[in-house]
Amino acid sequence: MDHIQEKEKSFHFDLYRRLPVSLVKGKGTRVWDAQNKEYIDFLAGIAVNALGHSHPDMIKALHTQADKLIHVSNIYYNEPQAILAESLSDISGFERSFFCNSGLEANEAAIKLARKYGVNQNKKGPIISFSNSFHGRSIASISLGGKKLQNGFGPLPEGFLQLPYNDIDSIENNINKETIAVFIEAIQGEGGIIPATNKFMTRLDELCRKNKVLLIFDEIQTGFGRTGKLFGYQHFNVLPDIITLGKALGGGFPIGAVLTSDKISKNFEYGDHGTTFGGNPLACAVANAVLATILKENLIQNAEVMGESLISKLQSLKKISIVKDIRGKGLMAGVELSIPCRPIVIKMLHKGYLINCTAEKTLRFLPPLIITESEIDGMIESLEGILVEENQ
Ligand code: PLP
Repeated sequence: MDHIQEKEKSFHFDLYRRLPVSLVKGKGTRVWDAQNKEYIDFLAGIAVNALGHSHPDMIKALHTQADKLIHVSNIYYNEPQAILAESLSDISGFERSFFCNSGLEANEAAIKLARKYGVNQNKKGPIISFSNSFHGRSIASISLGGKKLQNGFGPLPEGFLQLPYNDIDSIENNINKETIAVFIEAIQGEGGIIPATNKFMTRLDELCRKNKVLLIFDEIQTGFGRTGKLFGYQHFNVLPDIITLGKALGGGFPIGAVLTSDKISKNFEYGDHGTTFGGNPLACAVANAVLATILKENLIQNAEVMGESLISKLQSLKKISIVKDIRGKGLMAGVELSIPCRPIVIKMLHKGYLINCTAEKTLRFLPPLIITESEIDGMIESLEGILVEENQ
């Protein structure tokens, strides 16, 4: 154990099942530990570092804005925030943005907005979400999320109803004119890389329209090109009323956002919601640079092409009997095993690859959008060797 690990073990809350490595620097798709060992990053801070590490455009934006103005209160206007709101509106078609600092804060704001919509529409029903989903760890967002997040944290607020994901009968039987909103991930990330089915999404969208229920897509993990489209919902024939963003929006600098129409945003009145740090000049300047670079370097297209390659190469591992299923879209891929996957994550670490294990048995791959074919080939070769070994 190095000195960094010793200190963290002594002084930080013991909340994360950390891997035995202290990362000290990064460049592009690579990171290095305190002993200068190099790793290829197939996790990107869990879908955060879309541009990889230390991208020059991001660094320039950080330095330039930090030299000018880091923070002002939201009781004043600031230019980077104005530019980001306009750019997001231009590329997404959603007319208005609200900025905050993280994914869960975006969901928290969306829950509050949905509840105000419910009041204004005289609806008394719940907000529906899906089992096994993940929307953050505040009391409200664990009320949306899978049951295992809730253990020990009751009493939870009323007004939430969880239904099975991809179950058409269940949504048909439970949604009605009283329902306020439905929160959904296009691909459940923490739940084990589980994509929604087309049929389910189409029916859900119809039912939401018919009953004037807000359809809210949590795009925190799927957003910003990760799945080979700007947003995960674009793989389906649906039109959300609200989307929530975080993670890749700032490429590693904390920022979250709620995007919606002008009309829906107006359910919030002055004083209904707010934040000290959300949308500050530094965070927004970085997010502006990240967005411009994603578009300039065609990274959404790269995610689509490299994603197809990654998933088809992962498919070839199905010949190994502990490999049960391959799922995902673009650069959001999962390999479900019949055995716990943490030991494989550790072996991959020793071979110089950062990957992750979610839902206990699913290996998860979320590389930066700049990943290359040869890096994918190298990773697959190492993974195959380890899986064959584990299979014996
Ligand atoms: N929603 C989804 C789909 C996520 O994957 C996450 C984080 O993993 C969150 C919300 C919470 O985001 P944050 O950790 O920034 O609060």
